[in-house]
Amino acid sequence: MSELHPIAPAAPLPRRSRQARVVWGPRVVTVGGDAPVRVQSMTNTDTVDAIGTAIQVKELANAGSEMVRITVNTPEAAAQVPYIREQLDRMGVDVPLVGDFHYNGHRLLTEYPDCAQALSKYRINPGNVGKGDKKDRQFGQMIEAAMRWNKVVRIGVNWGSLDQELLASLMDVNSRRAQPWNAKSVMYEALVSSAIDSAKLAESMGMDGDQIILSCKVSGVQDLISVYRELARRCDYALHLGLTEAGMGTKGTVASATALSILLQEGIGDTIRVSLTPQPGEARTQEVVIASEILQALGLRVFVPSVTACPGCGRTTSTTFQELAKQIDDYLRMQMPVWRHKYPGVEAMKVAVMGCIVNGPGESKHADIGISLPGTGEAPAAPVFIDGEKALTLRGENIATEFHQIVENYIEKRFGAQV
Ligand code: SF4
Repeated sequence: MSELHPIAPAAPLPRRSRQARVVWGPRVVTVGGDAPVRVQSMTNTDTVDAIGTAIQVKELANAGSEMVRITVNTPEAAAQVPYIREQLDRMGVDVPLVGDFHYNGHRLLTEYPDCAQALSKYRINPGNVGKGDKKDRQFGQMIEAAMRWNKVVRIGVNWGSLDQELLASLMDVNSRRAQPWNAKSVMYEALVSSAIDSAKLAESMGMDGDQIILSCKVSGVQDLISVYRELARRCDYALHLGLTEAGMGTKGTVASATALSILLQEGIGDTIRVSLTPQPGEARTQEVVIASEILQALGLRVFVPSVTACPGCGRTTSTTFQELAKQIDDYLRMQMPVWRHKYPGVEAMKVAVMGCIVNGPGESKHADIGISLPGTGEAPAAPVFIDGEKALTLRGENIATEFHQIVENYIEKRFGAQV
């Protein structure tokens, strides 16, 4: 038998990108380098509806989004951007706003200087800045606006709007190769070249490389991994990561988590967005919840106290523990906008809600606070563990309410004294 050796814990590789600073007033969100991987989101309100947009930005920021992108597609939308910013400042929401521009960004950023100033970052899609000889000129106008107002840009390539002239020229080059690449490889090359060539062009116009973030979004998991590995190999700009048009519900969540986790584990990616299609009635904030959970599951960030719950099985036929786990999870998440300031450190707390004695006491002891509910046929008693020790046993009809109170008391006692 070979000699035993300590098993090294897995961890994401360090990132090696430059650091950009996305600023609004005193709020500085660093992106890249040794900064934490950031969570971004995007509104789906009409930007012309300034109040509705400001409210959704606030909801996304409260859910944990550290930058929020808004559509700036018309003169009317551009005119409302300063007003949206003002509303947010009035509500005490200092999250930086990112303007999403396509086709007419050069005009809007030039003709609406208050809009250009109120945004903290501009998203420029090189596939949608113009055609022919207009392309570089219009791209240059957006870069000039960013330099004038000292803003960061994200050069965001998307395979749904890839620069067709560049793709055609790469296909032409490919057709003359002795051994032509396959179509997918040419498309990958077009995505990566479009992003990097545009960034180099911006630098040649005088922009600092630290003001540039790149992205190359595609909707296939393996495609995204291929493209970002190459992008990270060829440049050290900060990278924004996301699977575009991820889809709805479980499919969108799983695909995003799979693609982003693999890349983040390799040290690739400095900001992330989960482009989830909301299900009817689903809150827009769900994309922020999923992005945060991906980072938390990888051990890269800690946003909310985690609730460990078992899946349940034939040993527990009631839904009590499922309901309690959901109640506690919802409650902890709902409180976080306030607790983040009131109880520093509470986000790292671990709560366990378990279904029976098989794993219940053991898992509860690993948590800061845990409860092991009675399984089918077990004595109607629920031991509660606090900091690894059995603290008390709950009995009767009000176990859920009493446990809720115990969690609140624990948080106040442990994290409340620090302020
Ligand atoms: S803790 Fe008990 S109820 Fe939960 S999955 Fe394990 S055996 Fe089943």
